[in-house]
Amino acid sequence: MADDHTPFEGRCAVVLGGAGFLGSHLCDRLVAAGARVTAIDNLLTGDADNVAHLVGRDGFRLVDSDVTNYLHVPGPVDFVLHFASPASPVDYLRWPIQTLKVGSLGTHKALGLARAKGARLLLASTSEVYGDPTVNPQPESYWGNVNPIGPRGVYDEAKRFSEAMALAYHREHGVEVRIARIFNTYGPRMRLEDGRAIPAFFQAALRDTPLPIHGDGSQTRSLCYVDDEVEGLLRLLVSDATGPVNIGNPQEVTVLELAQAVQDAVGRHPGVVFHPRPVDDPTVRRPDTTLAESLLGWKAEIPLAEGLARTGAWFRARLGA
Ligand code: NAD
Repeated sequence: MADDHTPFEGRCAVVLGGAGFLGSHLCDRLVAAGARVTAIDNLLTGDADNVAHLVGRDGFRLVDSDVTNYLHVPGPVDFVLHFASPASPVDYLRWPIQTLKVGSLGTHKALGLARAKGARLLLASTSEVYGDPTVNPQPESYWGNVNPIGPRGVYDEAKRFSEAMALAYHREHGVEVRIARIFNTYGPRMRLEDGRAIPAFFQAALRDTPLPIHGDGSQTRSLCYVDDEVEGLLRLLVSDATGPVNIGNPQEVTVLELAQAVQDAVGRHPGVVFHPRPVDDPTVRRPDTTLAESLLGWKAEIPLAEGLARTGAWFRARLGA
C-alpha cells in the first residue's frame, strides 16, 4: 500500500456494493490500508465469494442488505463508498427498476448515512452520463448526450440523478462528496456472463469460438485495469475535489482492436462474428483525464496487453480452460 493511503489507517469505511467487482477490490485495498470496513450488498449482481477471503478478518464484515431500504450502520463512519448498482447493460436491462431505485433511493440513503455520521461520500458515477458523446475525449465539463427514455436511460439517468443528489446534499447540508466518473474497467472478478465485451470476448476465445461483435466493431472504448482504477478512486476519495472527476484510461481502441488483443492474450484466434448494434450504444468513449492528473497526480499505468493477460488468467480459471 502506497504511503498516500495511510489516511485509511484506523478509519471506518462503509462500501455499498462491496461484494461486486469494483466494491470487492476497494474492500481489499481499504482493509490492507488498515481501515475497518463494512460491506453492504444484496448480492443482486455481486458474489459473496468476491470477499470470502476477508470475512472473518478483524475489522471486516459483510452485511446482506438492500441499500434502497433504511441504511443503518452502528458506530462511527468516516467514508461511505456508494458502489451499489447493476453496472453492465445486460444487468441493468434485466433489472431496470432496481437500477433506477439504487441510483436514486440508494444514493439518498447513502447521503443520509454520510450526513448522520459526518462522513465523506464517494459516488460511483459513470462515463455513461455522457451518453453517446458528440465530443471526444469527454471532459467533465461536457453535459452529455443521453436518451432519457431509451432502454439505457434507466442507468444513465439514475447516475445523473445521483450526481445531482450528491451535490444537493453538499450544497444544502455541507456533506463532503467526491464523484468519480468511472470509465470501462476490467480485471479479475468480472462475471463471465455479465454481457460486457471483455468477458464475452474471453469466453469465446477460450472456447475457440468466434468473438461476438455488436455493430461493425468500429465503435471505440477506453479500458482501465482494475488496480489502476481503484488507485484513482482512493486518491479521489482523499482529495479535495468536490466536482466530478473522470477516472479511466485514455488509451482508446476500437472494439475490433480489442477483440484482436483478447485473442492475442489467449493465444487462440477463432475470429469474430457480427451481431446487431444495441440501441443507443455509444460510438466513441474516451476520458479526458487532465483533471485527474492535475488534482490527483494519477493516471492509468497498466498497458492493455498486461491487463488482458492478468484478466485472462482469471477467466481461464473460471472456465477450467
Ligand atoms: P457489480 O455488479 O459487480 O457490483 C455492484 C454491486 O452492487 C453488486 O455486488 C450488487 O449485488 C450490488 N447491488 C446492486 N443493487 C443493490 C442494492 N439495492 N442494495 C445492495 N447492493 C446492491 O458492478 P461493478 O462493475 O462493480 O460496478 C460498481 C459501481 O461502479 C456501480 O455503481 C457502477 O455503476 C459503477 N461503474 C462501474 C464501471 C465498470 O466498468 N465496472 C463503469 C462505470 C461505473
